[in-house]
Amino acid sequence: MKHHLYPHSTTFSPDPQRVFSFDLEGRLISVFKGGVVYKRDLSSNVHVRYQQEGRQREVLNPEQARRFFEDVERQIQDLLPILPEDLVCRLRDRYTPDQLLDQKAKFLQVYRPISILPPDQYLSVVLQATEGCTWNKCTFCNFYADRPFKVKTPEEFAKHVQEVQAFFGEGVRLRKSVFLADGNALALSFSRLQEMLFQTRQAFPGLPVASFIDVFTGSRHTPEEWTALKDLGLQRVFIGMESGLDEVLRFINKPGSQADLLEFVSELKHAGLQVGLILMVGVGGHEFREPHAEASLEALKKMPLDAGDLIYLSPFVEHPGFTYSEKREAAGLTPMSEPEVETELALMAKRVRSMGLKAARYDIREFLY
Ligand code: SF4
Repeated sequence: MKHHLYPHSTTFSPDPQRVFSFDLEGRLISVFKGGVVYKRDLSSNVHVRYQQEGRQREVLNPEQARRFFEDVERQIQDLLPILPEDLVCRLRDRYTPDQLLDQKAKFLQVYRPISILPPDQYLSVVLQATEGCTWNKCTFCNFYADRPFKVKTPEEFAKHVQEVQAFFGEGVRLRKSVFLADGNALALSFSRLQEMLFQTRQAFPGLPVASFIDVFTGSRHTPEEWTALKDLGLQRVFIGMESGLDEVLRFINKPGSQADLLEFVSELKHAGLQVGLILMVGVGGHEFREPHAEASLEALKKMPLDAGDLIYLSPFVEHPGFTYSEKREAAGLTPMSEPEVETELALMAKRVRSMGLKAARYDIREFLY
């Protein structure tokens, strides 16, 4: 029996085959059992990951999730007589299967579904300053297709912050940052952002703040305003760079250009902010593979990036029925297979790292919150 009573969570492993983790409110976080990982998201969907001819990903349906939570509870009940007293004490107020299932409704009272986050923000506290995306027209993206862009009023945001605090309770200790969502939240006016960051810092002191913005909305703030936002806790700005080739940007209907991006990133860096740039690997298919990679790496070389910045490489996932697919077919572009994309991603990561920058994988299929 191994157990860890961390200041932010509880983990124990009764045998080499099983590991259970809980947050400080007693909510199950994850289970490892016989090579399979089960992760519960905040609305109690259970995401299953295992290796079988490659990495497999599933989400349990509600009935399977109920049976899973009941099975975990049975295992814990069986183990209680042999668990050390301090661990039993931590597990005393653990959520029952019904309480875990109720989290879905509670989550949806506080949040619109969270569509996507950068991987290092899966353990953030999300605050939805806005809902949706100001643009919503990139051909490959439907993250916010279900909602029009909306900005929360100051009163709505203040209420949201309180609700989020109540939702997390002591579970907040597991959270490493605050993420201002949805897409393009940093496009709000400086005064709105200033107020939001002030409230964020009061509610979640000490947690660095990150958020998304796109190049075409980035120029809304002056260099002095970016510096002021940094002083209020903003630490990292994530930008969907997608490609270093303007031709690809036009093909995916993303406004902005590499020249705009270079200028914008320079401004952010000058303000002392860290950036996270997201590049898609495989977009434009075989025909664009080389020009896309070369132009993207060239663009990175020109930017004043350093070891605090992050280059995310995202294997491009083509969804049938999206405008991207129709346009790709019409243009006669050949999609890259998954192994081809993986090989390309590994090559690009190596080249990014050889520039002294951090490269990491950003697989949207792994997202959970
Ligand atoms: S700007 Fe970002 S969130 Fe908005 S449609 Fe394009 S990729 Fe999606």
